[in-house]
Amino acid sequence: LVRLRRRLATSNNALARALAELLSADRIDEDTWDDFESTLITSDLGVGPSTELVKKLRSELAVEGISEPAAARDVLRAELVALVDPTLERSLTLDHEPGLPAVIMLVGVNGTGKTTTVGKLGRMLVAQDKSVLFGAADTFRAAAAEQLGTWGERVGVQTVRGEEGADPASVAFNAVDEAITQHADVVLIDTAGRLHTKVGLMDELGKVKRVIEKKAPVGEVLLVLDATTGQNGLTQARIFAEVVNVTGIVLTKLDGSAKGGIVVQVQRELGVPVKFIGLGEGPDDLAPFDAEQFVDGLLG
Ligand code: GDP
Repeated sequence: LVRLRRRLATSNNALARALAELLSADRIDEDTWDDFESTLITSDLGVGPSTELVKKLRSELAVEGISEPAAARDVLRAELVALVDPTLERSLTLDHEPGLPAVIMLVGVNGTGKTTTVGKLGRMLVAQDKSVLFGAADTFRAAAAEQLGTWGERVGVQTVRGEEGADPASVAFNAVDEAITQHADVVLIDTAGRLHTKVGLMDELGKVKRVIEKKAPVGEVLLVLDATTGQNGLTQARIFAEVVNVTGIVLTKLDGSAKGGIVVQVQRELGVPVKFIGLGEGPDDLAPFDAEQFVDGLLG
């Protein structure tokens, strides 16, 4: 939590800056509210949620007779937590039928951090005493399977790979098959993320999922989004949600120049929770998402 706070606080975060400005004003007046609202809108919180938040805050502060910025903090915190929604179920679905592994597919555009996230999730699950297998179903770039294999060695997980150019679905199938043979608890499937042909992507991801499900049900489809890409990330989310049944979101690169407000928008857009956040490039830089911790991180 301390690390999360530090990372979010030191990040160049428009939302955090707007909050800090609001809370450090001598008096909250009309101008302060206008500035606050426009900063929220230009951050990745989105127009709807921003207007809503300001409206709620204003009326609550008026009802409570609060004009001191310091006293406004608690109200603001509560409203932000509500916006991020602490009631969403964010744990990873690891249920599996006897003799079958829990299957988790990771999807997302290249460069968002899919392979890295597979590695980090592997590390997390191994630490929970799960037996884990990786499936390198991104067969379009030789480097992708290579990279996943390296992650596997790093975190002590075997990687099932195919030849370069092999059918991604067949590699995924083999990985699940191997997981069954080994009685593994979880198999994490890395997939390709070329977005230039939407139909191709749709065919491919759909096929990967269908072929896996000849062996074992896919319990989770995690969409990996790069938090620094803002509205672009939302567009990607929409496209992926059309082609596969996304069950959770991993928001990467929230360290650095992240825009935390995107959490709210993407959850609304897809109707699924952010389950994990990426906070760096190392194996331990993945955290389960927690609404209250996240908001505390934003508030500093
Ligand atoms: P993929 O193409 O989606 O599989 O993306 P990669 O896993 O290869 O990641 C692309 C780049 O983003 C790599 O340089 C990663 O180290 C980096 N990366 C991934 N996740 C994070 C994160 O949470 N924070 C930071 N700072 N970098 C990340």
